[in-house]
Amino acid sequence: MHYLHIVLRYSALSPPIAMMAYFVIQKISNRKESRFMLEILRRIVQDVGAAPDLSSALAITVNRIRAAMKVAACTVYLADEDNRSHVLMATAGLNPQAVGRVRLGHHQGLVGLVAERQEPLNVADAPRHPRFHPVCEVCEEGYHAFLGVPLIQYRRVLGVLVVQDSAVRQFDSEEVDFLVTIAAQLASILNHAILSGATQELLNPLNTHTRALQGVAGAPGVAMGAVTIPHLLADLDDVPDRLSQEVASEEAAFHAAIAAVEQELREASDRLAPLLPPTEQALFTVYRMMLSSDSLIEDTLGGIRAGRWAPTAWRDAVLARVRLLEQAEDSYLSTRAEDIRDLGRRVLQHLRAGPDQHPHPAAGRCVLVAEDMSVAHLAAVPPEQLAGIVCLRGSALSHVALLARAMGIPAVMGLGDRPLGRFEGSDIIVDGYHGRVYVNPDPATRAEYRQLMDTEAALTVGLGKLRDLPAETQDGYHIPLYAKAGLLTDIAAARDSGAEGIGLYRTEFAYMVRESFPSEDEQYQIYRRMLAAFAPQPVVMRTLDIGGDKTLPYFTIEENNPFLGWRGMRFTLDHPEIFVTQLRAMLRANVELDNLRILFPMITTVEELDEALRLLARADQELREEGWPVTRPPVGVMIEVPSAAWQTGQLARRADFLSVGTNDLTQYTLAVDRDNARVAGLYDNLHPAVLKTVAYIIENGHRSGRPVNLCGEMAADPGAAVLLLGMGVDSLSASATSVPRVKWAIRSFSHAEARELARQALELETARAVRQLLNDALRRAGLGEIVHESA
Ligand code: PEP
Ligand code: MG
Repeated sequence: MHYLHIVLRYSALSPPIAMMAYFVIQKISNRKESRFMLEILRRIVQDVGAAPDLSSALAITVNRIRAAMKVAACTVYLADEDNRSHVLMATAGLNPQAVGRVRLGHHQGLVGLVAERQEPLNVADAPRHPRFHPVCEVCEEGYHAFLGVPLIQYRRVLGVLVVQDSAVRQFDSEEVDFLVTIAAQLASILNHAILSGATQELLNPLNTHTRALQGVAGAPGVAMGAVTIPHLLADLDDVPDRLSQEVASEEAAFHAAIAAVEQELREASDRLAPLLPPTEQALFTVYRMMLSSDSLIEDTLGGIRAGRWAPTAWRDAVLARVRLLEQAEDSYLSTRAEDIRDLGRRVLQHLRAGPDQHPHPAAGRCVLVAEDMSVAHLAAVPPEQLAGIVCLRGSALSHVALLARAMGIPAVMGLGDRPLGRFEGSDIIVDGYHGRVYVNPDPATRAEYRQLMDTEAALTVGLGKLRDLPAETQDGYHIPLYAKAGLLTDIAAARDSGAEGIGLYRTEFAYMVRESFPSEDEQYQIYRRMLAAFAPQPVVMRTLDIGGDKTLPYFTIEENNPFLGWRGMRFTLDHPEIFVTQLRAMLRANVELDNLRILFPMITTVEELDEALRLLARADQELREEGWPVTRPPVGVMIEVPSAAWQTGQLARRADFLSVGTNDLTQYTLAVDRDNARVAGLYDNLHPAVLKTVAYIIENGHRSGRPVNLCGEMAADPGAAVLLLGMGVDSLSASATSVPRVKWAIRSFSHAEARELARQALELETARAVRQLLNDALRRAGLGEIVHESA
């Protein structure tokens, strides 16, 4: 179990080290000393995990390693932010006064050599090595044997872990294996500390410039506000670190919550008694015993009296016990950990429901910060206060990012693991162009961003003037520019943007904000309002596209590879009752308006399209028989999977139009999960393979006489929009907030220039070169303000 856990963690490491670590674990797990080694490793990881801060964690690590390996010294060096030097951060065996003071140049000494070569260095007599660099302050005169191992996470050398001994000797392979394994664990802890800014203060105490936390650009724009954690409090881990001076009311709320859960358990136990076997019934007794445990109650009350908010104090008391039980080897005890956690959640629900336990965000601009975000999280802040969104998981293509873009709210995604509660209430800058955030920014950073926001505001005013002008090139070629929508609230933004209709209405959002599948009538109301708002301009309604990262709270789909699983058309064809209900609602909503177009998502085979068309014909027939004056709307196919791209011709002949979904097409072409922050750097819809696929789709769609729309996020990128125009795409669908910029770009080029740009782009070999080409073209056309190089 332990090595499984450890090996899993390696998947986040750089490939050579991950491989090495994997083999080390395999090797040591086969040896008879393995249990001993793994036990030490486990203990170090546990102690480090429980350490209050980074300095203590490093101090514990070096002391434990020195004792376990029986060596004279163990030291950790960390690379500073600019990678200019290695700072001695903790030592057991060298001069403790050197901590934080000794800095080696980045390539200096054996430490520099380890970092440079990115592999372990085992030297019998260090002072004789040509790269040895004596540093008087560390007092290492008596040491000869040297073993240094790089601390690497995501290909980046974070520092070097060193052990030294007095004898002249080579460290044996077991010692090397051990240190490599520890280093891999330590690197992941350090990476977390670096991301949360904990190392910054230690490494650069004099540097007052705020360091950016790097994530992934989610939705463009810049925002400032106070970190606000949406309090769904569904899970203990989401409870923020919050203080409260209202001891009496916090205590009362806590006692009331405990009493409510006791009552709930008693009722549940009575209700289920005749149905449950005795072993299951006993669980209620166990729960009640846990709930009345004096120590759990006392610890929580102690936390409240020490000034903590009741949910925070409860969280700490519960999680301390969960951790203890989880560490137990005994499966009975580790199962109890889950029980305590469950109990913790139940009490939390009641604490949350209490009248004074729902602190409203302070008036003023708020930046919502959460691990994962749903529409319900967004509702935690009044819309006029919502300035920005920061999501620790996900990427630019996660649905919260798409929503943020639709709402015009800057967003940063995939910031990685970091304790949420720490930041609550702090000032934060969200740079949605470069995927960066600054927590508690210094005055210079603040002023810089303030200026950027002013420039943005001026640009927005300027772009507003384009609202009623056509999306037309300088030589008069018109390309319809549509907006995208997901909720009825998007109607106003789409209309204000000057779009010529809705090119993609994602119907799943209406399903996501509910507690059960909507009825035909409920859907009819929504669709009717949408169609009526734009008639006679077209509204392209896409049928339900759930699965992947879009799940319904009332219909969870658990799969190992959700993006390759039961999503989009695969799901709806397997549930014709849901599909036909939706089609009927759409067709009814279109009566007498006649501006509906229906779009089928995630088509991968011709048979799927045939079946979907058959069901559409059935819905149409049923409605006619019931007396509805329905008409058959134009039907489109999303081309967002390589198999569909290669069958563009066959699919096009069966449909009225095509719509290229580059968000998915990119993920399936490049084998890069659109929702995984770890590989977000590899996700690029300007990749030549994606461009060639899009060119193929356009050409073959046209050969079959069908127009080709493009509705992926690519259409919202002004440079890419000009490129797509040049490639021959017939219309573009961008989020409402991007429509003015895209229009501005289109109006700044001639059709011939766009075609020439496309010709050149299709000859390039890398996405970077394509981006450079587009940015240069935008600058030459005087659109420098909307060029935002990737970070
Ligand atoms: C796409 O895949 O490009 C697309 C528009 O669909 P979605 O992002 O909703 O999957
Ligand atoms: Mg898609």
